[in-house]
Amino acid sequence: MYTCGPTVYNYPHIGNYRAYISADIIKRVLMYEDFKVRHIMNLTDVDDKTIRDSHKEGKTLGDFTEFYTKEFLKDIKFLNIIPPLRFTKATDNITEMVKLITELLARGLAYKSEDGSTYFNIRKFKNYGKLSGVAIENQKENASGRIKKDEYEKDNIQDFALWKAWDPEDGNVFWETSLGKGRPGWHIECSAMSMAHLGAELDIHTGGVDLIFPHHENEIAQSEGATGKQFVKYWLHNEWVLVDNKKMSKSLKNFYTLRDIIDKGINPLAFRFWVLMASYRTKVNFNWDALLGTETALKRLQGLYLALGPELGEISERYRSKFKKRLGDDLDTPRALSLLWDLAKDEKISNSDKKATILDFDKVLGLGLENLKEDLSAQTGETPEEITRLAEKREEARRNKDFRLSDELRDKINSLGYEVKDTPKGQKIDKI
Ligand code: AMP
Ligand code: ZN
Repeated sequence: MYTCGPTVYNYPHIGNYRAYISADIIKRVLMYEDFKVRHIMNLTDVDDKTIRDSHKEGKTLGDFTEFYTKEFLKDIKFLNIIPPLRFTKATDNITEMVKLITELLARGLAYKSEDGSTYFNIRKFKNYGKLSGVAIENQKENASGRIKKDEYEKDNIQDFALWKAWDPEDGNVFWETSLGKGRPGWHIECSAMSMAHLGAELDIHTGGVDLIFPHHENEIAQSEGATGKQFVKYWLHNEWVLVDNKKMSKSLKNFYTLRDIIDKGINPLAFRFWVLMASYRTKVNFNWDALLGTETALKRLQGLYLALGPELGEISERYRSKFKKRLGDDLDTPRALSLLWDLAKDEKISNSDKKATILDFDKVLGLGLENLKEDLSAQTGETPEEITRLAEKREEARRNKDFRLSDELRDKINSLGYEVKDTPKGQKIDKI
């Protein structure tokens, strides 16, 4: 399984994280079904955007991309995304890219242009357009040339750059290779890295829908053109996160980062939960109220889970098979979540069995419930530190006659599965 990873030229926005959470769900479902998953994700650390912005900041490409790579790795940890077997950096795989381009030249699918760049000849690859549905014969009249930029529109299909001859804007970013002095195009990076680490035929390839054209169309052309084998069995593309019904994107400047979420004191896992509440195939509109609502739901779930006590019983096979069925139905996470709520409320199941089944579901959902046990020391039966702290704050609020705050704190305590009673001897805290 291969996932197109981030272009490390800025903080990814939370729309990007929908792509990685969606890939994480596919992977977790496969693991849950006992498949062995070999998952590779790349880091695009050389392309038009990384070069442009590293120069703007006056940093070397390496220093610049390393910073954003580190931030990305922190974020995926916050989102409980299982790291891939390996992250592959484009700059570590230049030799593989040159080899692949050389093969395409040998097979007559690529050619050199006057400036020393190498282009893919889309007319020579008979299946060009099979993923995105673009047709060479339908292109605009003036779109019959070639394009050096990495990103372009569907109605502008052209021969695209595999190897870009050095130009002054690249500054000190170049490699001296048998293809000349230059750097790879973005599309060849993913073909070369996926095949170098997973072989010529992959089972699954993931990314957002905006990558279908041109990126994935071009990956197919490059990979199948060079090997003659079917490159990918299943493509899975997640739909967009929108803001005010427009795609969240850097260029529209309508984006939020995971830092924005954390700075507002919202648990990043609430964002994961929010993503799972929609099918990966539907567009979802982001707003803060919806995220806050999801955070409340997550807290309620945590509270219900903690209230189940320390015993771990048997996994309910009935629930497990329903859960698998729902996820097996095109990864229907919204219905998998609704089953989780059914389970949490099911009085016919003992607390200990419920706990075991919820933890089992969480192997796929990844809402961090297992860690909660450690964080809030639910197993020992002691009142967790967080609850004690909230209760102390509440006592202080009552002393100050700030009853609004004390009520708020009581609700918060309740949402975590505890209740606080006022007795003549002071507050008493119990599990709900
Ligand atoms: P990039 O770093 O631009 O290559 O994007 C990383 C991933 O995020 C790709 O799989 C994109 O398709 C995906 N992506 C970009 N914008 C959005 C969005 N608004 N909603 C969902 N996925 C997105
Ligand atoms: Zn890619």
